Amino acid sequence: MSTCKHLNFKVHADCGRMVEEHERVSIPNEVKPQTVQVDLTIECADCKAPLQFLGLRPGLNLQGAACSPDGLEARLACIIQDRSKP
Ligand SMILES: [Zn+2]
Repeated sequence: MSTCKHLNFKVHADCGRMVEEHERVSIPNEVKPQTVQVDLTIECADCKAPLQFLGLRPGLNLQGAACSPDGLEARLACIIQDRSKP
């Protein structure tokens, strides 16, 4: 059993822009917001113990959140907020 109190955390995020069907068929980008897939892992900065995400289904959800089979990576579908609109 670890004696670490897990007081500090290190977050790692990989962000990848999803290529949407409308881009493949040359429909202008402004038709749909750009989707970004964010893969998130978090570990204790001191002992490196990974955090396991709870409540997410394993797999890929292009409209929401999912996780890796072991639950150690959250896979989050995000859209880029359009700040030009009120
Ligand atoms: Zn720790």
